[in-house]
Amino acid sequence: MKHCIGCANGLDALKLIIKAYGFRNGDEIIVPANTYIASILAISDNGCTPVLVEPDINTYNINPDLIEEKITDKTRAVLVVHLYGQAVQMDKIWALAKKYNLKIIEDSAQAHGALYNGKCTGSLGDASGFSFYPGKNLGCLGDGGAVTTNDDELAQKIRALRNYGSHIKYHNLYQGSNSRLDEIQAAILSVKLPELDKDNKRRREISKYYRENISTSKIILPHTDNEMSHVWHIFAVRTSNRNDFQAYLKQNEIQTLIHYPIPPHKQPAYKEWNNLSFPLTEEIHDTILSLPISPVMTDDEVKKVVEVINAF
Ligand SMILES: *Cc1c(COP(=O)(O)O)cnc(C)c1O
Repeated sequence: MKHCIGCANGLDALKLIIKAYGFRNGDEIIVPANTYIASILAISDNGCTPVLVEPDINTYNINPDLIEEKITDKTRAVLVVHLYGQAVQMDKIWALAKKYNLKIIEDSAQAHGALYNGKCTGSLGDASGFSFYPGKNLGCLGDGGAVTTNDDELAQKIRALRNYGSHIKYHNLYQGSNSRLDEIQAAILSVKLPELDKDNKRRREISKYYRENISTSKIILPHTDNEMSHVWHIFAVRTSNRNDFQAYLKQNEIQTLIHYPIPPHKQPAYKEWNNLSFPLTEEIHDTILSLPISPVMTDDEVKKVVEVINAF
């Protein structure tokens, strides 16, 4: 991409994009209902209205076939989230964006290096936000983020917005914020970026081993159509008796986490949505569990996870 602009974190990256486009006052932005809360906070923090869309139950990404019915004359953008590390199926979304003149904003916080049709996340829309939180596929040692875009005007504006709205010291063009990328974190990222493809390759190996060797019918394994489209930030399985399964794994010294236990529309922060129903999103949040996956896992550890699961 022509521009990669460092900022303080992934949430800020998304907020800066929406602010720089000038979306506000009830402008609507379409977003998956089952995303991490940050994607939605970036929209509402700008005074825009998040319009929630159910995911595809196989990929856990936004279902492109459910987007068009949500488009109104207030819709300005689709915010796609490459959830768990898998690139969103973009073809239909590109077509809709063209048809209705919408911007495509990517939330690439979990998918550094994932490819769709040979193109990297961060280059699949008009602008993309990345997070470099330590646990992400590319992480620094604290908080960090970036925006990528080919839009010169947008890039210029974001460079100012992250720096008090200023291009020239003490001259303030906009009411900006302080969202600079810390120099120490930037230095760490310069060293780690060349390792990203290797780390992602190791994640793919582990994922493949899990998918080929976990043989219990009690859990549903994650699905991908194309090995290069997924960088396995999270290896999410689903099971109807999650509590027992998680407790059993813990007894066997295997840590798991839930990404995420409560969907955004059920959060107190969005109480106006608490009575809305998104059955697939709720089903995912009730049954999903993340198995260990990390480039630093050894082969023995990966094997142990499989053995323990198959004995459940
Ligand atoms: C981590 C994450 C963010 C936010 O990134 P921070 O750097 O923690 O602000 C946004 N969206 C998704 C999908 C994330 O996983």
